[in-house]
Amino acid sequence: MQLSPVEAGSLVAIAAAAIAFVAFERFAPYNRGQALFRPGFQVDFVLYNFVQSWVLAVVIGRLIALLDAGTGLSRLGLVSEWPLLLQVTFFVVTHDLYIYLMHRAQHASPFLWRFHEAHHSVPEVDWLSGVRSHPVEILVNQTIEFAPIVLLGASPEVAPVKGAVSAIWGMFIHSNLDVRLGPLRFLVNGPEMHRWHHADQPEAYGRNFATKLAVWDWLFRTAYLPDPRERKAERYGLGYAGFPDGYLRQVIRAFGRGPFSPEPAAETGPSEAA
Ligand SMILES: [Zn+2]
Ligand SMILES: [Zn+2]
Repeated sequence: MQLSPVEAGSLVAIAAAAIAFVAFERFAPYNRGQALFRPGFQVDFVLYNFVQSWVLAVVIGRLIALLDAGTGLSRLGLVSEWPLLLQVTFFVVTHDLYIYLMHRAQHASPFLWRFHEAHHSVPEVDWLSGVRSHPVEILVNQTIEFAPIVLLGASPEVAPVKGAVSAIWGMFIHSNLDVRLGPLRFLVNGPEMHRWHHADQPEAYGRNFATKLAVWDWLFRTAYLPDPRERKAERYGLGYAGFPDGYLRQVIRAFGRGPFSPEPAAETGPSEAA
C-alpha cells in the first residue's frame, strides 16, 4: 500500500501527538496517581487502537466506495473548488454537530446506550481511552464522517487531515491533563469538560456531550464545568458491575440482555457555568 505524503504526514502527526500526551500527562496530570499501564491498557492499545481501527477502516472504505459507485455523486465535485481549509472546517464542524446530537441520543436511549457503554467502561480516563468504542458505534459514526467527504468530492487531502484531527482531538479531550482553556472553553472542548462526561458522579450525568467543539454544550444547555480549583472529576467508569475485561466479550455484550441503562439523570437539570 502506497501512502501519499499527506497520509504519511497524518500518521506521523498522530504518533507524535500520542507521545507528547503521554509525556505531558506525567508533568501535569488532572488526577494524580494514574499509571500509564492502567487496567485495560493492552486491550485498548492493541485491539481497539490497531486491530479494530484497521479492520473498520477497510470495511468503511469499501462501503463508501459502493455508495459512490451506486450514486456517482463524487463526480459532481460539489466542494472540490473550495479552498482546502474551508473544506476541512466544513466537514469538522458539520460532523461535530452530528456527533453531539448522536451522543446525546446514546445517553437517552437504552438501545443506543448498548453501543456506547464500552466507551464509558474505562475506569481511568487517559490519552488512550477514547479509542475504546464499540465497533457498531465506530461503523456508524465514521461512515457518516467520511462518506460526505468522498461523495461531495472533497480534495484527496481532506480525509487523512480530518482523520488526524479526529484522532488527535480524541486523545486531547480524554488525556489526564490539567489544562485550562480560559475563554476558549466556550468554543473548544478539552479534558476539563470531557473528563466530567466520563465521571461516575451524579452531578455530571447527562452533561458535556461535545467532542471537538464545546460550543454545542453551551448552546444547548448541557455544559457542566465547575471551577477546577474547587471541584474535579475523580471517579470514572460505569456505575454498575458486570462489564467484561476481554475485547470479544465487550463487543458481544452489546447484543445480549444487559442490563443497559445510561445515567438516570441524563437530559435533566440546569447547566452550570464556570
Ligand atoms: Zn458518552
Ligand atoms: Zn469520551
